[in-house]
Amino acid sequence: MNVESIKRRLLVKYPFFGSVVANSNFIAEPAVGTAGTDGKTIYYNPNFIESIADDQKTFIFAHEICHIAFDHIFRSEGKDKDLWNIATDSVINSFLKQDGLPIVEGVVDIPEAINYDAEEMYKKLLEEKKQQQQPNGQGNGKNQKGSQQQSGGNG
Ligand SMILES: [Zn+2]
Repeated sequence: MNVESIKRRLLVKYPFFGSVVANSNFIAEPAVGTAGTDGKTIYYNPNFIESIADDQKTFIFAHEICHIAFDHIFRSEGKDKDLWNIATDSVINSFLKQDGLPIVEGVVDIPEAINYDAEEMYKKLLEEKKQQQQPNGQGNGKNQKGSQQQSGGNG
């Protein structure tokens, strides 16, 4: 399934995102782990997209479209970027899941996020992080996929 047919599927399933889908660029970028967006353009790894089922392709692209439609990239200003990514991802994914799309393995999956909007979820995660912070904080390695979303498109 090529990108044009994925776009058509998105338009049929989510007509209210029509202008976002129509105005976003979809660019194949093998350097991206899975997919990501800078708020205007969606970059996707063509090998990854080829490797998943059609419904999962719809999930992945609907996910990125949601980031753009809800202005998530630009609303990250002044926030903890990692937490904001988790907050927005969990809210989007719980919504798409409830909507019947199959969640893709490895993505953020916090079922209770369905009860929150991104700002609320972010506050909640921030509270939890404060509570969990231990004297010898152990970093959990690097987030491989995050950077694409975080860069506001500055070259
Ligand atoms: Zn995301």
